Amino acid sequence: MNFNNFSFGEDLSHALSLMGFEKPTPIQEAAIPIIQSGSDIIACAQTGTGKTAAFLLPLLDRLSKGYRAKKGVTNLIIVPTRELALQIDQQLEGFGYFVGASSLPVYGGGDGVGWDQQKQALKDGADFIIATPGRLISHLKLGYVNLQQVEHLVLDEADRMLDMGFLDDILHIVGYLPENRQTLLFSATMPPKIRELARRILKDPQEVSLALSKPAEGVLQGAYLVYDDQKIPLLEKLLQGKSNYQSIIIFTSSKRMVREIARQLHTKGFSVNEISSDLEQSDREKVLRDFGNRKFQILVATDVISRGIDIKDISLIINFDVPQDAEDYVHRVGRTARADTTGVALTLINQKDQKRFGQIENLIGSVVQKIDLPEGVGKSPDYQPDKRTSMPKKGGRYKPKARPRQKGPKKNS
Ligand code: AMP
Repeated sequence: MNFNNFSFGEDLSHALSLMGFEKPTPIQEAAIPIIQSGSDIIACAQTGTGKTAAFLLPLLDRLSKGYRAKKGVTNLIIVPTRELALQIDQQLEGFGYFVGASSLPVYGGGDGVGWDQQKQALKDGADFIIATPGRLISHLKLGYVNLQQVEHLVLDEADRMLDMGFLDDILHIVGYLPENRQTLLFSATMPPKIRELARRILKDPQEVSLALSKPAEGVLQGAYLVYDDQKIPLLEKLLQGKSNYQSIIIFTSSKRMVREIARQLHTKGFSVNEISSDLEQSDREKVLRDFGNRKFQILVATDVISRGIDIKDISLIINFDVPQDAEDYVHRVGRTARADTTGVALTLINQKDQKRFGQIENLIGSVVQKIDLPEGVGKSPDYQPDKRTSMPKKGGRYKPKARPRQKGPKKNS
């Protein structure tokens, strides 16, 4: 199968070859013909599988063949975060240049200029609006947005939007759209609440589900069993001698740890910067831009950006802790080995997180190799992912396990 099978117009075919897209990814192979047929679709696909192009390409192709609203917005894409809005907008800019498509991301948190620009574009109309729900509703309430011409509604990362409490906002926005439209729902997971949403806003959708919850092929995954106070010394060891790695991301769950890790690495002379929801939107964008331009090597980040960031050639991902949500593991690891390249993802597992990591291994359907700690970091705790440490036995009294004596080196200050 290659892109010729989709009978794309000349402009788009030219753009694809210039952008180095040689053959469709599996989700593109499955979803594009359905979207071209005009049917609604529920597609289960994660970041890193080429899902964005799976919905953008057929929509762009229609535009290039002259199907666009005379006034108002033709394609509306709703996304959970500004980072994802920006990432989709960037992909659109690349293709849109050849196809002559206009697009605008609409999200909150920017400055007044952002608001006015968004307002003007929404008044004038655009081929694509990529919006976070809250901000779009703020504009809709002021009465100048015409969504009556929308032909295609895309909900991207729908599961995340529901997790973030956007259900009512989505339904509110859908109330502004014409009944006669095509709706494309993309989600990394398919919990019952997604099916319920689909039942309410899609018509006879066709369904595509591909390799659910598996990191992209080409990611070498490994894990280290550690005590908490071994984490920073191990991190330093892992980063030493990696000067040939262009871009490295370290993920951690809390903002406090982002600051702490960045501070420690900075003190040791690493080229490091940090990003979390503490930063203003413009600062976040600058950090991501500088990282993309290789102005520094190591980015320490919270989950906020794990789903949105699209920077090519990230050679190493380090999970400083095990993600709370097993799906987040797949998303974090999906930052490396994007579409056919190879990358390495390493996870540091403390005793508390062992059970959760076992659940992740169940979800991804494979056992991640546990690597011996490098010399000088101390000895690993035992690996007992199945051990029940938090639930009382039925009928018996729960007795917490005594904490084993700390075997690692003293806390690094
Ligand atoms: P996504 O899953 O949409 O986040 O896409 C992941 C990355 O794969 C992006 O950087 C895309 O530009 C890239 N990509 C998408 N489709 C293809 C393709 N058919 N060939 C090569 N790269 C692709």
